[in-house]
Amino acid sequence: MDDGNWSFSLSLLLLRFQYSKAKARQFEMFVLSVQVHHYQKTRLLQFFRYELSTILGGVDSKINFSTASSFYLAAERTAKGIHGCIVISGFNSDVAIATALIIAYAKSGRLDASHDVFHELKNPDMIARTAVLAGYAMHGHGKEAVNIFNLMVKEGLEPDHVIFTHLLNACSHSGLVIEGKKYFEVMSSVYGVEPRVDHYSCMVDLLGRSGLLEEACELIQSMPIKPNAAVWGALLGACRIHNNTELGKKVAERLLESDPLDPRIYIILSNMYSAAGLWTDASRVRALMKDRGLRKSPGCSFIEHENEVHRFVVDDRSHPESAKIHARLEELIEKMRQTGFIPKTEFVLHDVDQEVKEDMINKHSEKLAIVFGLLVKAAGLPIMITNNLRICGDCHSAAKFMSLIEKRKIIIRDSKRFHHFTDGLCSCGDYW
Ligand SMILES: [Zn+2]
Ligand SMILES: [Zn+2]
Repeated sequence: MDDGNWSFSLSLLLLRFQYSKAKARQFEMFVLSVQVHHYQKTRLLQFFRYELSTILGGVDSKINFSTASSFYLAAERTAKGIHGCIVISGFNSDVAIATALIIAYAKSGRLDASHDVFHELKNPDMIARTAVLAGYAMHGHGKEAVNIFNLMVKEGLEPDHVIFTHLLNACSHSGLVIEGKKYFEVMSSVYGVEPRVDHYSCMVDLLGRSGLLEEACELIQSMPIKPNAAVWGALLGACRIHNNTELGKKVAERLLESDPLDPRIYIILSNMYSAAGLWTDASRVRALMKDRGLRKSPGCSFIEHENEVHRFVVDDRSHPESAKIHARLEELIEKMRQTGFIPKTEFVLHDVDQEVKEDMINKHSEKLAIVFGLLVKAAGLPIMITNNLRICGDCHSAAKFMSLIEKRKIIIRDSKRFHHFTDGLCSCGDYW
């Protein structure tokens, strides 16, 4: 089957899915049978299945996040292929199909294409608007999210709890504290939507990120429902950002009581101790994690080039172009230093001397993936990276310098959000 036919069959799959949600299982079997017949496209189809399961409301537990990360890179091409077929087949005004495209484009980093699809819709419904709002939240465009919400309300649409989750999330990722507080207040008083635990975790995140840790704690205490791990996790993340080791320790202990098997909590706690120079405590937490048989999932970065997804881990030497990548990275870091880049070694966890620390942090997977992109992508093309974990502060700062020195747009999707780096600045405004 050539690419054109294959794309067309994908668009048919999409159509079937949209019109027979009740037959989702049957549909999945159909996708699987296509996978078997066209095994060379399996990766993209798996991605497609992942997208569908997300749209369906559940996440396919058989596909872990690290695998999904690499699929997102292929999403743009898939979305483009499907988009073309939909236009040709005359289904471009179908709201359900357009909504699937809005989501696919936003998830693949193409917020502009996602907007275009939305603006072409004559009568966008609530779900299409929710998808656009979710895209804004994902990319940290808080003001645009607020605008679209206001427009919806003006048109008489009744916002539901899902919309408020995305809206609060968008406010949180853009530092819109006043707006976030206002929407949290009016969601129940004006729109009759009682805050759920998700809304509380967005608010704790919003307050915590902006340094209002005390207010975040008060909000948790006032909750009429039991705070879950997401709520405490948001507070713990805020403690890390603002280096509040004392409160962070208490929150982590509470989290570990309810879930002693979550390696992320040990990592955050250990990172906080390391950042505060409390090496003995950091080692103790690491040892405890090891004793309990828990392992941190390794940080990986993915970049797509010529229909292939390239995966990098820290200090990766397995790539065929490894020697070139490391040489170019060293050269680039030297240029960055001359421009004022200072490695943020507090993100290295071990108690080693400064030189070794810098060497370790310079080989993070994000940096290797960016340099690979610089080597293979034609000048002017943006470099799109997907990370399975949250980007560290040093790689964030390095990506800003790289975008400036190399005059390249760099887009990084980490486990939390998108970062668009241009001319030495990030779209998150360093608020992440
Ligand atoms: Zn890093
Ligand atoms: Zn950023």
